Parts: sequence; C-alpha cells; structure tokens
Amino acid sequence: MASVTFRDVRKSFGPVEVLHGVSIDIDEGQFVVLVGPSGCGKSTLLRMLAGLENISAGEVLIGDRVVNALPPKDRDIAMVFQNYALYPHISVAQNMAFSLMLKGASKSEIEARVKPAAEILGLTHLLDRYPRQLSGGQRQRVAMGRAIVREPQVFLFDEPLSNLDAKLRVSMRTEMKNLHQRLKTTTVYVTHDQIEAMTMADKIVVMHDGIVEQVGTPLELYDHPDNLFVAGFIGSPA
Ligand code: ADP
Ligand code: MG
Repeated sequence: MASVTFRDVRKSFGPVEVLHGVSIDIDEGQFVVLVGPSGCGKSTLLRMLAGLENISAGEVLIGDRVVNALPPKDRDIAMVFQNYALYPHISVAQNMAFSLMLKGASKSEIEARVKPAAEILGLTHLLDRYPRQLSGGQRQRVAMGRAIVREPQVFLFDEPLSNLDAKLRVSMRTEMKNLHQRLKTTTVYVTHDQIEAMTMADKIVVMHDGIVEQVGTPLELYDHPDNLFVAGFIGSPA
C-alpha cells in the first residue's frame, strides 16, 4: 500500500477550470471518501490519479513519487467504476484473471490470486459462470475481484454502488468495509451519497464546485462543520 497526495491540483477543460487547487493527503491504508454534489470534480480528480486525465497544474503523488507524467499502466492502482463492464463471453474466473493473463502470469500464479480473492468475495461457487448468469451484486463483486487480484497499492472506486438497488447498496457498504479491514489497501472512494461517506470513511473530503470545503473524520464533520455547505451536505445543524 502507499500514501496518495494531491498538491494544489488544477484541471481545466479548454478555457473552463473545474478544479481550482485541490490538496488532499491520504495515509497508507486509509479509506478516504471524496463526497460532493454531482459535477463538483470528484471523478476528474480520481481519473487524474489513475492517469486517465492529464493534470493542468499541481502535483499528484503515489507514495513519495510524483506521477503526473506516468502512464496508467505504471501506476500501481486498480479502479472500479459505476458501469463496471465484465467481459460477457468469458467466465467469472477468467474475468478476474484477465489483467494477470495480459501481464503473462503463469497458470499457478493466477490460481493463487484468483482463489483467495473469490473466497473473500463469496464468489467461489460462481467461478465457472458467465456474467449474464449473475445478479447485479454478484457482478459488482466480480468487478471488485478483478481489482483485488492485481494486488495494487491503491484502490480507486468511482460510485461503485450507484447501479445497485437500495437494499443491496447497504449490504455492499458493509462488505466493502470488511474487505478493507482484511486487505488494508489504501482506498479512494468517490460518492455523491453522504450516508455512504459517513458510514464508510476513515476520513471524508467534502468537495464543492472544484474545491475542498473540509477534510475530517465523519464525527468531526458532523460535530464541527466549517461552513453552511458542509453542514447542509452532511446533514447536521451548523
Ligand atoms: P463529479 O464526478 O463530481 O460529478 P466530474 O469530475 O465528472 O464531477 O466533472 C467536474 C466538472 O468537469 C463538470 O462541470 C463536468 O461537466 C466537467 N467535465 C468533466 N469531464 C469533462 C470533459 N471531458 N470535458 C469537458 N468538461 C468536463
Ligand atoms: Mg463522477
């Protein structure tokens, strides 16, 4: 695992600046939730960390290494999106193994990683199925499995539960937290859902219109919101 640092990061699309100098420190092994209304810049920030979007100004570090110019494949991270697309024509096991196969891992190496990941995620009995034979929650677990088998230094999640129904979303929150307890991988989790943030985060970063409004533990934000926006968003009286 590794720490992650954003130092005064800016992002413009053409003439429009959408991130106005964002600084965030994430410790090794922390589960940090970036929360804020739609359009505030959460996904853009995550994509910059993944190397999918270039950085207009400032620095992004993984560990003590500035990664601004590093291609995605050289960043030791794994990302799970809202619209996780599984490969429909290969089995669950093969979906999970795909990135390892691309890297030329041996059959025994692949097995040694897929098996325990499947066990953690409760997918062992489903390894031979195809994605169309799975429920939404099972598919989401496979998407997480694909990330886990890579054993990255950092997990990035962009609204991974938004496509699930309300009940499943609640149980998956607990599952993801349990997973983090076991693996202790540094995690940056993006959501617009304040309840998800409050229940899952070690540390919450509240964003609004391309800036960071406040950083703190769920309790700190609830008890001592810095301003009306945070108070309103987190749902406590200012
Ligand atoms: P969030 O994930 O918090 O909903 P985004 O990071 O997706 O927000 O978007 C932040 C802002 O940047 C929005 O105003 C969005 O319209 C704009 N934006 C995102 N991607 C692009 C793009 N490729 N081109 C132009 N504008 C973009
Ligand atoms: Mg987004």
